[in-house]
Amino acid sequence: MKKIICYCAMLFTALSTVAQSNPPALQSITAADLKKDMYDLADGRFKGRSAGTIDELKASEWLADKFRQIGLQPGGDDGTYLQFFNMWRNRVAATTTVSINGQPLRLWNEVAVSQMAHKQFDAPVLYLGNAATIDFAHIDVKGKVVAVEANAAGINQDVSLPTWRYSRSVMTKYGTQLLSKGAIGIVFIADEVAEKSWADANENFKRGTYDIEGGPNNAVSATVPVLWVRSSFRSLLQQAGAKISANIIIERFDYPSVNIIGKINGTDKELSKEYLLYSGHQDAHGVRNEIKGDSIYYGADDNASVDVAMLAIARAFKKSPGRRSVIFVIHGAEERGLLGSRWYVSHPTIPQKSIVAVLNGDMIGRNNPDSAALLGVQPPHRTSLELVTMALDANKEGPAFKLDTLWDKTTHPEGWYFRSDHLPYARAGILSLMYSTLLHPDYHTPQDDAAHIDIPKLKKMTDWMYRTGWKIANAPKRPAMDLNFKLER
Ligand SMILES: [Zn+2]
Repeated sequence: MKKIICYCAMLFTALSTVAQSNPPALQSITAADLKKDMYDLADGRFKGRSAGTIDELKASEWLADKFRQIGLQPGGDDGTYLQFFNMWRNRVAATTTVSINGQPLRLWNEVAVSQMAHKQFDAPVLYLGNAATIDFAHIDVKGKVVAVEANAAGINQDVSLPTWRYSRSVMTKYGTQLLSKGAIGIVFIADEVAEKSWADANENFKRGTYDIEGGPNNAVSATVPVLWVRSSFRSLLQQAGAKISANIIIERFDYPSVNIIGKINGTDKELSKEYLLYSGHQDAHGVRNEIKGDSIYYGADDNASVDVAMLAIARAFKKSPGRRSVIFVIHGAEERGLLGSRWYVSHPTIPQKSIVAVLNGDMIGRNNPDSAALLGVQPPHRTSLELVTMALDANKEGPAFKLDTLWDKTTHPEGWYFRSDHLPYARAGILSLMYSTLLHPDYHTPQDDAAHIDIPKLKKMTDWMYRTGWKIANAPKRPAMDLNFKLER
């Protein structure tokens, strides 16, 4: 607590108190435009814009067409607004088989693969009982396939967390210990919580993993398989001499995604060689398991809110350009592991060094009308005090949001700073900030729809991002990087 007070005092003395007049095209950002674009982009016809699907591609074309109408210059490949890239997708094949004591289990209905591994085995099962009662220090599981009953005690089941995360938490709490002791396969038996979240968890397992070149998700042959079975299979696994046979087949294929990129030239001969970069993502979660009568995961807040804000800001800069140039990058496949931004940072369409700062937004249209969050404000992951000061001044001069200070902390359980598209830029040493109005219970559900967006608040967030960008685009000197910037969790 003390540390926080000292830090705030320092920050506020650093703040400029000079009031600045409004940026010239502020009036051209309107609630009506934001609302219309929001209802168009978060519409059911794009079916939740899942990365790698035709729906994501259709939404991308819609966005590229908006860039063209606004009058942005194409900033993608070959004179277009688009920059395509290939994801690699690894998925459990439908031909996968699992049986216990000779009884076949129906894939996804009765058995799920939560950790993929291209493995075949026919092995006795070591039944370890309830996870909470295992004496991990004294068990010998080396070279064995083990069965464990899941136990929810001590696991965070906050309603803001999607239920599929439960399986991940069980894995972290119990599975990793079994792996470190040399188990060659883990079978979790569903408890009440896992039974309740079975459908939701399976939607995620079925999707498998995605990656781009150089990423961590490509070595599926080297991992240990982790399975979940329904609680009704407990007695089969408890039988003396219980055996499990599995042939887990992982299929891998290319899956295209796309970044949408447009530019506006600056007015200053020298400064226009430098770019302010606005960042958002266009993909959401597609069509999935039904929740409250709907199965389209519209991704209105996450992240159509930022896409439509970027369109509005682009109109403003088009009407009245700044001295520096501005580039708008709406990334694909953010939800699959920040893949579009990782791709863009390693394949930039402008010189990487010319990017003065990245203003990224993720979810900016919900929660309390008067509060918001800015991330990348607190060391060690603050890239630039000068950049932060511009953003805080812009907030004071415009929307005057009460700013959250907890979610930016490296110790915050959600690790929010580390979960959006500015991160690959920051990792590459590019100054970055993230704007957000934070999580809500409709996060990653069909209820994240246009009707739940607070349009006046979205307008205030858009104004704030524009005001900050206007300062950056016109500052005589580009903001300096902090010396002690570090990414750590
Ligand atoms: Zn997002």
